[in-house]
Amino acid sequence: MAAAHRNPNTSSRPYSYGSPAQVQDGGVKAPSVKAPLAAASSTRLELPLAASEALRIIENAGGEAWCVGGFVRDALLGRPVHDVDIATSLPWQRVRDAFEGAGWGTAETGVAHGTITVVRKGEPLEITTYRTDGSYSDGRHPDSVAFASSIEEDLKRRDFTINALAYHPKRGIIDPFDGLSDMRRGILRCVGDPLTRFSEDALRILRACRFASQLGVAIDEATFEAMVASKSLLRKVSGERIYRELERFVCGDHVHDALMTCVDVLAFVLPELVAMKDCAQVTKYHIYDVLEHTAWVVQRTPPEPLQRWSALFHDMGKPAAAFFEGEVEHFYGHAAVSVELAGGIMHRLPFPAWLRRDVPVLVRAHDDVVPANTRAVRRMLGRLGGRTDLFEALCDIKRADALAQAPFCAPRANTAEELRALMRQILEEEAAFSVKHLAVNGRDVMALGVEAGPEVGRILDAALDAVIDERVPNEREALLTFVSSELYD
Ligand code: ATP
Ligand code: MG
Repeated sequence: MAAAHRNPNTSSRPYSYGSPAQVQDGGVKAPSVKAPLAAASSTRLELPLAASEALRIIENAGGEAWCVGGFVRDALLGRPVHDVDIATSLPWQRVRDAFEGAGWGTAETGVAHGTITVVRKGEPLEITTYRTDGSYSDGRHPDSVAFASSIEEDLKRRDFTINALAYHPKRGIIDPFDGLSDMRRGILRCVGDPLTRFSEDALRILRACRFASQLGVAIDEATFEAMVASKSLLRKVSGERIYRELERFVCGDHVHDALMTCVDVLAFVLPELVAMKDCAQVTKYHIYDVLEHTAWVVQRTPPEPLQRWSALFHDMGKPAAAFFEGEVEHFYGHAAVSVELAGGIMHRLPFPAWLRRDVPVLVRAHDDVVPANTRAVRRMLGRLGGRTDLFEALCDIKRADALAQAPFCAPRANTAEELRALMRQILEEEAAFSVKHLAVNGRDVMALGVEAGPEVGRILDAALDAVIDERVPNEREALLTFVSSELYD
């Protein structure tokens, strides 16, 4: 058995005060050691009611059925389970008839591949006829799908051994590729020859990175070598499929380890990562290169797309901005470069519009100094368009950033928490931090003779500054006087 592949890129720079990963601060935890697994064929898994019912309906119709895929894997690992996929010997038309007969809804979601979705009380289940995939001439889709006669045949087409397990509440687990043993050892391994499997469908390369990040599994050596050797096949995979895997990758619980391990594979879709790996950060504030610093920042933010993507991009501009002054490296203006690079990535890949809008705002602001006082917090809130959710996310990033620098910087994580507390206090006190909160509006400004256009916004911004600085109370008369004085300046 080949050795498993882990973190060839982990920085070996020495440090003496403990890794930020070891800081126990009640926040996002560093990757844990994989849970030992005691699965056996006698294992009983808790099946959702709808799934047990579905097995019974298929069996009453004369078919065989098994639970497969992510449900079996996640239930064995003790992870939260979401959808249950079912594989059956029945053709999809007989599945449809059996479920309609039982009063369920059905939708022909992928009948060309033998998949039908059945719905009970709004809860969908995917049921797929046993199948084998024909050849893959385009590296994306099987040229043909043939229906198979047994569950064992069906399991052969699945990507990784831990995803090629089938479970039935009476018959237990079928494990033709030693998936249970790989699970116990925390190994991700292809079913069959890895080069062949990646040449059939290159998305599996990114699925491997994603499972490493979600599950904390180490990638089997032969599988990893094939991922590196096959990565250019990712050019054949659609942006949508790539994006979906990358988002799950960045939101994984073990993203630090997975990013350090998979960076050279991910580089095919995110080439910007390569320069980060080579950027040492020769300054007293850092103990990691930009890549490993970033990996820790991502790891230590809440597992939400906004925070995780912003964290991945926050220092991406450092390699371009870096210059030496004597022995010390500087990165002035790097946040603006990071914004440019993030914008490029978010347009190259189909990021949702809300992330294209919000991520650059956080990347731009991540390094701005916000002292822990009400005035500074109100100002930053104003710069964020009054978006308290963005301010919270900025605190998440600032906190994670502080914990991923030299140990003497770690107390800055407390400043981020103070900023969060101040924001909550400002909300409680209903103090103004957005032009929307002012006792005057654009119409009032125009009534004083300003033409509709950017000047109205500039004057309202100046009024908000005056209110935040407590030069003017947030009262209508006082603000109208202030606006008039601005006009005659
Ligand atoms: P999750 O649902 O948590 O994302 P999953 O493993 O269930 O993970 P799905 O995309 O729902 O992933 O696929 C269900 C199962 O189908 C997988 O467990 C695997 O057995 C198989 N599978 C999915 N995609 C592929 C693929 N590209 N190549 C081979 N098998 C696949
Ligand atoms: Mg699934």
